Amino acid sequence: MNGVEEYLSLLDAIVLLAQKRDAEGGLDRLTDEEQTQLRNLRQRTEEVLTGRIHPDPEAALEVLLTLLDRRGLSNAHRRLLDYIPDHALPRVFEKSLLALGMDYKEADVSGLRLQHEMLDKLQWQAPDLFHPYLSALWSKRSWESTGAWWGAGRRFSHELRNEMNTSIAHRNWAQLCLEWSGEPENLNFVASKLNTQLLENAGVERKGGEWRRLYADACYHIMPSPADLTTHNMTAPAHMHLDDLSWRINGEGIQAEYWGAEGPKCPHCDYNLQHLLTLSNPVPGVTLHAPITFVVCTYCMISDRPTIFVHDDHGLPERPKYHGSGFEETGGYDFSDLDRETYKFLHHGLPVQLKVTPSRWLFQNDFNDSQNLNRVGGPPSWLQGPEWETCPKCQQTMLFVFQLHDGLAYTNGTIYGFWCSSCRISAILNTYT
Ligand SMILES: [Zn+2]
Ligand SMILES: [Zn+2]
Repeated sequence: MNGVEEYLSLLDAIVLLAQKRDAEGGLDRLTDEEQTQLRNLRQRTEEVLTGRIHPDPEAALEVLLTLLDRRGLSNAHRRLLDYIPDHALPRVFEKSLLALGMDYKEADVSGLRLQHEMLDKLQWQAPDLFHPYLSALWSKRSWESTGAWWGAGRRFSHELRNEMNTSIAHRNWAQLCLEWSGEPENLNFVASKLNTQLLENAGVERKGGEWRRLYADACYHIMPSPADLTTHNMTAPAHMHLDDLSWRINGEGIQAEYWGAEGPKCPHCDYNLQHLLTLSNPVPGVTLHAPITFVVCTYCMISDRPTIFVHDDHGLPERPKYHGSGFEETGGYDFSDLDRETYKFLHHGLPVQLKVTPSRWLFQNDFNDSQNLNRVGGPPSWLQGPEWETCPKCQQTMLFVFQLHDGLAYTNGTIYGFWCSSCRISAILNTYT
């Protein structure tokens, strides 16, 4: 029996026992033998899923397509989408269309919970699929499916602008959809409505009449070595799943170092500084001059949002004496003076590869499923809504250049890195869940 057949038959056997249990009112109504059988079945199901289905994208696809023809499933198979091959996303979308426009409760009542979960995830991985169906989403004006408006261009522009003009209840929703549409006329409309040059949701700023992105178009996923992933998988908390396709990106990589051991002491608090990211090689499309090293004080960053560093010609950071409103470049703490043999700060990062981000992972706002959210360039994945930074020296809006998410690198949140190339200043911002 192949993995798919075994997995599906195990699921069927579990359903039969669960039906019996529920019909008779609780687990204790099953015989001891049946309870043991149910436990064993669940354990075996998990083994087949992680050992034979997850590693094989085509097997994952076969299971998912089979399940999408059924009703009344829980959201337990939600993560399967992250294991199926890119080319199959449209098929999953088609099989989930019955749930389009439904909210979570409506989908539950209709037995379309899994289909609803698929749409919820697909809006981030393939927003284009939704564009021909926006009328179904327009009528709902739901915050659950705003990702579907990403890159929608002129579609529903007139209606959305009208909504922003006239509706109190849906004004913010319409604004978000207009910003995410990417259509310059929509951006102009929102900017004049709000009397601003910076649209935080879209991540764009208007200068001399032109919109420019506050992030690099180029995007790279930070890929730890398979050995590091394996080690981490054995010690990781149960909620971490470090094996989906966002953690298995193929192709040529650019060498870099990230995270790793702590370094010398922070001049402000005497706590050890933490290495975040070292780029020794140029990263095409990202406005950073290698070599460059980003660090943070994990203690100061709790109250200093953001934490500011000035980088010397070698890319090495120093903390200015003051920061934020009292920024003063001099009188800081110069890392290049350190005895590197003693501290070895710069060589304790973990070796990683930067891999060009496949389009499906370009716009990641799905924080539920432990995807790889460690990235250089591309649009930021905001954990708590957008927070763009201003350079404390020149007062220009800074560019977003990287993010490190919990899991391998960091627990309980996301660290965002911003950069001002004219002042060579980095701003490190951390956000908690
Ligand atoms: Zn500190
Ligand atoms: Zn600046």
